[in-house]
Amino acid sequence: MNLGKFVWRNGKFVVAEDATISVVNHALHYGSGVFEGVRFYKTASGSAIFRLDDHTDRLFYSASVLELEIPFSREEINSATVELLRKNGFESGYIRPVAMFGEGKMGLNPHGAKIETFISAWPWGKYLSDDPISCGISPWIRIHPRSLQCDAKITGHYANSILSSLWAKNHDFHEAIVLDHAGNLAEGPGENLFLVKNGRLLTPSRGNILPGITRATVIELAERELGIKTEEKTLTPEDLFSADEAFFTGTAAEVTLIKSVDGRAIGDGENAISGQLKKLYGEVVSGRAEKYRGWLTFL
Ligand code: PMP
Repeated sequence: MNLGKFVWRNGKFVVAEDATISVVNHALHYGSGVFEGVRFYKTASGSAIFRLDDHTDRLFYSASVLELEIPFSREEINSATVELLRKNGFESGYIRPVAMFGEGKMGLNPHGAKIETFISAWPWGKYLSDDPISCGISPWIRIHPRSLQCDAKITGHYANSILSSLWAKNHDFHEAIVLDHAGNLAEGPGENLFLVKNGRLLTPSRGNILPGITRATVIELAERELGIKTEEKTLTPEDLFSADEAFFTGTAAEVTLIKSVDGRAIGDGENAISGQLKKLYGEVVSGRAEKYRGWLTFL
């Protein structure tokens, strides 16, 4: 992977090859880390990071769930992120801040292990596809909200997403749709799910999902730009099969349209509303929508 020259490690910029962890890193063994995925885009006024403050807030929230005290302030993380991109000279791509319990303690209580904080970045194009994708309903259910804290972005949670992603790949689907423990729609392995039905937007309510920053962005854009309110509610697979349109949202996935689920076409393929939201999102992240430039941190 092209990480460029530098990675930020515990307050300092180090040569990427030196940004290593110990073989007895606690998070490596038990998943006791927290992370973010942030994108930055090329705009007419230089590169800009999309919703950096919101991602950093979620990083600190996730850390609080694990009682992991990141030994830096939000401002330090934000300015290190900007500086890293400047130093590496990438125009657009993906940023991965991660904080974890490191070396110094084994056993499940992580307190006593050294906290390690890294920020790395790399150029990254489309995560899924610019064209509508095929999906399948995964046999693996989303993590139960009483097993793990679903709204925190904790590294260990992603073993669940990996199983669904592997299942999708092995069944020739582009991506999986993951149900919750009650058999209702939850989300994708790394994306939130929206349906369009009779001109309205529907999305699974919070509780079993990671409430995405892209999800919040799309809800706001739909209401302010298209006058469409989003209903957050319990949704069943039948709601998905009878929807007029369906799409995923996520920092990596951006707005990705869904053409079929389990081999059944969704709607008539026109994607009138989701297509508009995809276009709007592209304009906002690339700085072409003046009104939303407040979401951008210019380098
Ligand atoms: N759900 C899961 C499980 C995810 O990993 C992600 C990616 N962070 C999302 C939803 C979308 O969140 P966001 O829009 O904040 O990237």
